[in-house]
Amino acid sequence: MTTIMKFGGTSVADAAALKNLASIVRSRFELRPVVVVSAMSGVTDSLLTSTVIAAQGQVDEANQSLQSLFTRHKMTANECLSPEIANAFAIEVDCAASTIAGLLKLFADYPSLQPELHDTIVSWGETFSSKLLAMVLSEAGVKSQQVDARGCIVTNDNYTCALPLMPETFERTLANILPVLDQDSVPVLGGFIGATSDGRTTTLGRGGSDYSAAIIGAALRVDEIQIWTDVTGVLTADPRVVPEAHTVERLSYAEAAELAYFGAKVLHPKTIQPAIEDSISVRICNSRAPDESGTLVCAQSITAPRTIKAIAHKSGVTTVQVTSARMLGAYGFLRALFEVFDRHRTVVDVVTTSEVSVSLSLDDARSLPSIISELETLGTVRIDRGQAIICVVGEGLKEMSGIAAKVFNAIEDIPVSLISQGASSINFTFAVAEEQVHEAVSRLHHEFFKEKAISAV
Ligand code: ADP
Ligand code: ASP
Ligand code: MG
Repeated sequence: MTTIMKFGGTSVADAAALKNLASIVRSRFELRPVVVVSAMSGVTDSLLTSTVIAAQGQVDEANQSLQSLFTRHKMTANECLSPEIANAFAIEVDCAASTIAGLLKLFADYPSLQPELHDTIVSWGETFSSKLLAMVLSEAGVKSQQVDARGCIVTNDNYTCALPLMPETFERTLANILPVLDQDSVPVLGGFIGATSDGRTTTLGRGGSDYSAAIIGAALRVDEIQIWTDVTGVLTADPRVVPEAHTVERLSYAEAAELAYFGAKVLHPKTIQPAIEDSISVRICNSRAPDESGTLVCAQSITAPRTIKAIAHKSGVTTVQVTSARMLGAYGFLRALFEVFDRHRTVVDVVTTSEVSVSLSLDDARSLPSIISELETLGTVRIDRGQAIICVVGEGLKEMSGIAAKVFNAIEDIPVSLISQGASSINFTFAVAEEQVHEAVSRLHHEFFKEKAISAV
């Protein structure tokens, strides 16, 4: 029996969080944990900012911007480790600081190397946190050992958003982790990072530690992948928008994947895929309330008919509408249209079509100018920036007639577009203007979960 325990940035934010984490792992030692950890909260952002400053040629300023990050790690180590071990960690941080200074200089001097250097620089966040956590666990009486994730997760060289390669990743993960488990030691790996087969550091995309945890869990065929964060599981809506949102006890893989994809930040969108293949359950737990059971994600959800599970939303979306009479009764039009997005490696999220127009939404509008000029050869193009997608999710939607009426009654004065019900019938999705998304989500939450809110009073 083995369990992945992945801890996010807030779970390692300071000495108190680290000590709490150590007690969570110690009390679950019989699960044979493999720990995957994010950088301390805010650290990846700081490392990214240093690369932006270096790219402007300001290498000294870039270095200066990281000094508080180094100090924070050393001070945290002082607070949770014995002086000798804290000192050893401080020496490692100082060595790393001069390595990073050298990398930032290269970053400024050689623009062509920036993609690779970018990943090498930001990977230090997880390298620091995993080294520190392994030391903290050992001092707390939990035998543990840092394992470099770059020796386990083999990826392509698509820097900033690298894709893991199989079967190499599974083989190397087993080869690096099993010997540590066999010594009754807890392996501690940094999430988010990997390496190409020739050893160049890569990263898996922002929030990617959840994905690392799932990949390692699939390689080891663990019993459960636990994602420890700062809220009790997946909530019925983003708690920053709906403070009264409550924990969803159980979700199917499909429900969790839809919610993650459409903005529930608590789970990286790619986390579910590796778990599905071996039917590994994923549990989202709260490191501030470790005894609460959180959300269990597995093949079967508990479904009451005519109910939904949660509402996700994501802002910063652009919608594109292409109108052309050529679409009428013609084939080949949609292929030509989607080939444009293919050529620009741009992911399309939601799509709706009518007889003469196609509307779709994009997260990533970086290639939009070239996309528009190519689309204009197919028809009239209309772009709306500053949009948001709202996604109402639940297996119960399959039998829920009147869902659209209920949604639109609740937000009748808010204009909506791109209305779509996914082919799996477990989501109902539409777009609204970004400035109205919080109001819309709050009203929908009240509409769908008011009984629960009343019974909780
Ligand atoms: P971690 O650093 O542990 O990976 P994240 O910040 O990535 O944590 O994800 C947790 C955060 O996700 C929560 O603090 C919450 O603000 C946000 N969030 C957004 N939507 C949801 C949701 N539906 N359920 C739970 N949390 C959500
Ligand atoms: N540290 C990385 C980030 O902030 C990965 C993660 O936390 O999951 O994006
Ligand atoms: Mg996260």
